[in-house]
Amino acid sequence: MEIALVDGRRSAPQPRLTGHCPVCGSIVIAKCGTQRTWHWSHKGERSCDPWWEETEWHVSWKSCFPQDWREIIHTALDGEKHIADVKLADGRVLEFQHSAISEEERQSREAFYGSMIWIVDGRRRKRDIQTFQTTLHQTSRDPLVYSGYKEDCALLRDWVGRPVHVVFDLGDRKEDVAAFGATVLWQLHPDPQGQVILTPIPKKVLIDMLHKGTALRHLRRTQAPAPRPIRRF
Ligand SMILES: [Zn+2]
Repeated sequence: MEIALVDGRRSAPQPRLTGHCPVCGSIVIAKCGTQRTWHWSHKGERSCDPWWEETEWHVSWKSCFPQDWREIIHTALDGEKHIADVKLADGRVLEFQHSAISEEERQSREAFYGSMIWIVDGRRRKRDIQTFQTTLHQTSRDPLVYSGYKEDCALLRDWVGRPVHVVFDLGDRKEDVAAFGATVLWQLHPDPQGQVILTPIPKKVLIDMLHKGTALRHLRRTQAPAPRPIRRF
C-alpha cells in the first residue's frame, strides 16, 4: 500500500514510521528500502484485502493520477471493505489487474464497484501478445475499430463479454509506435453479445480522458490516434 493512516491522516511511507491500515485498522510498517518503491506493509506481509495486489506496474499506473484519487476505501452496506486502486473524480473506479483472476472474482468486483474500468497487464503470459497480434484485424477505419477471435487468444477469451470497459496494457511496443505513432493501449468495449470490439488509444490520451471524466468511446480519426496512415502491424 502506498497510503496508511498516521494520526488519522492519509500518509505516504517514511523511514521508521508506523501507521494503521485504512481497511482493517491493524498496524502497518513503512518499508523504505532500495529495491521496491516505498510502501506500507502489514506485519505478516499479507494484506487484509484478498483483492489487493501491488506490483511495480501497479505503482507506475497509480502514479499517473493525483494522490488523493489513489487507494480509496469502499465499504458495502454489509460492511465489506476493499481498496479501489484509483477512484476518478467522476466516481469511476480503476482496477489494475496483473494476476490471474477467476470469473467469480471479476463479477464480484464489478458488482462491488459498479462503475469501473479494468486495466489489465497483457504481458503476464508471453503467448498472449503474439496471439493478440495475430488475431487482430481492422474492421473500420473511422472510427478506428479492430476485432479478433477470442478462440485464438487467451487474453481475449478471459476478458470478452464484460459489462464494463477493459483496457489492455501490452507495454511500449515498437509495432504500435510504427502503426500509430505512439504507445497505445487497447480498449475492449463492453458488448453483451460477447463480440470483440477493440480501439487502440494512446496512453497519454486515455489518461487525459480519465482525468477529465470523459467516457471511453470509439475515437474518430481526428481525435486519435493514427497520426500516420494506418496499417496492420
Ligand atoms: Zn489491513
